[in-house]
Amino acid sequence: MPKYIFVTGGVTSSLGKGIIAASLAKLLQARGYTVTIQKLDPYINVDPGTLNPYEHGECFVTDDGAETDLDLGHYERFLNVPTSQANNVTTGKIYQTVINKEREGAYLGKTVQVIPHITDEIKRRIKLLGETGKFEIIITEIGGTVGDIESLPYIEAVRQMKWELGSNNGLVIHLTLVPYLAAAGELKTKPTQHSVKALLESGVQPDILVCRTEKHITKEIRRKIALFCNVTPNAVLESIDAESIYDVPLLMLKEHLDEVVLSKLKLSQRNEPNLDNWKSFLAKLKNPTSEIRIGIIGKYIELKDAYKSIAEALIHAGVSNECKVNVSWIHSEHITAENAQSQLGKLKGILVAPGFGDRGIEGKIAAIKFARENKIPFLGICLGMQCAVIEFARNVLGRADAHSTEMNPSTKNPVIDIMESQKAITAKGGTMRLGDNLCQLTKPSKAYQVYGKIKIHERHRHRYEFNNKFLKEFETAGMLATGINPEGNLVEIVELRDHPWFIGVQFHPEYRSTVENPHPLFARFVKAALENR
Ligand code: GLN
Repeated sequence: MPKYIFVTGGVTSSLGKGIIAASLAKLLQARGYTVTIQKLDPYINVDPGTLNPYEHGECFVTDDGAETDLDLGHYERFLNVPTSQANNVTTGKIYQTVINKEREGAYLGKTVQVIPHITDEIKRRIKLLGETGKFEIIITEIGGTVGDIESLPYIEAVRQMKWELGSNNGLVIHLTLVPYLAAAGELKTKPTQHSVKALLESGVQPDILVCRTEKHITKEIRRKIALFCNVTPNAVLESIDAESIYDVPLLMLKEHLDEVVLSKLKLSQRNEPNLDNWKSFLAKLKNPTSEIRIGIIGKYIELKDAYKSIAEALIHAGVSNECKVNVSWIHSEHITAENAQSQLGKLKGILVAPGFGDRGIEGKIAAIKFARENKIPFLGICLGMQCAVIEFARNVLGRADAHSTEMNPSTKNPVIDIMESQKAITAKGGTMRLGDNLCQLTKPSKAYQVYGKIKIHERHRHRYEFNNKFLKEFETAGMLATGINPEGNLVEIVELRDHPWFIGVQFHPEYRSTVENPHPLFARFVKAALENR
């Protein structure tokens, strides 16, 4: 039977539960355990796919096509193991299942209630990953902050599971904040005490406290927190602000988080954690031999989380080129043909981000024209690729009103059009072309140079695609389709023949970049940018 670890958060949101969960998982994995991480989100959306990125940051997509919380991206980047539908559960999913069962008559004669029906469904979802038999340890992160109304059923489910599992098979790690009051010159433990009290009110005694802090926590303060929160003194750990999220596993190693967890779960320590790859990544991250400036053009740039996986993939790509990638975040609404030189002139590479809808489209197209004409390395992702196609149609093929029918349904030149399979779909949630798809590359091509193989798999999230009616004309003029999905004959990659490095991809390579496997597209893009100096 697998062991279960629950991670809750108190005092405030944004303490980095996802990073702590991922770091712990990394340490346990480095000791030879098979681990997965699951995120339970207390909002009523069935998944975050319908959320505006401003609300909740990026929507991460798994191989099996789940639209999920961005923390799953951290889990994959840290563990280098794919997640799945079962790794992200929301209140919407829980209620949908229970209500559907009620309609089917599964509870005939009974009043359907939060306890036991909702909490039972939460427990069932937690146990699902354990039942796959693939993991020795399941870490379940509970989204939100303890004390929130929405979190209550989850905390109750954790209480019940802990009781059912027994003390050696499940434990609770509570992440709190120990703020530093500059005026008093002191670290304050009271918010932590209150947040543990809030957990206790729901019947859950945390086993380990991880305290976020800007200053080191002294032995005395640790003892005080342990005494008042009723945990063993070795189970009060500090999580000090780190320069990079990738430092956190090593900081947690120093705090013996993995050892404490294993001993409380009565699991053997096995070998010392093997973090050689991780450490060599960090060494390169901290000692770059060169530097480069790349622009990300998007319309959600006010919130960096909206492009989390892209930003991380560029960090991985930088490391694999031993180069520091400085990112300029440029708002697509601010770019015009007239100001492109002043806005983009200093960039060594231009990346146009994914997106939906009309806002900022013309700025993206102007940026692509600039990259194409000035031979600046370019990577267009999803909508970014579609914009590259539109730009080429307008400015090279002379089809002035070329557009995607997403933005202009009545264009005479619908170079990007809705997929046949999408035409009859009206519901918005979970209905795009989602998840892993096969793509076959042309050889020779820049795309083939990048991947070094013909058959590749990448994740998708879109409704529109390249319109094959125009393909011949594009290819004759120098924009080549070098990646095709064989089943649907869908264009997945376009590249320019007469440009040092200009690639647009209909899929999302950023979802597949990890610390141990930087994505080759990003790595080659950064390399091309370096060569562009
Ligand atoms: N809006 C475009 C589509 O649906 C692109 C989506 C994206 O960039 N993820 O096809």
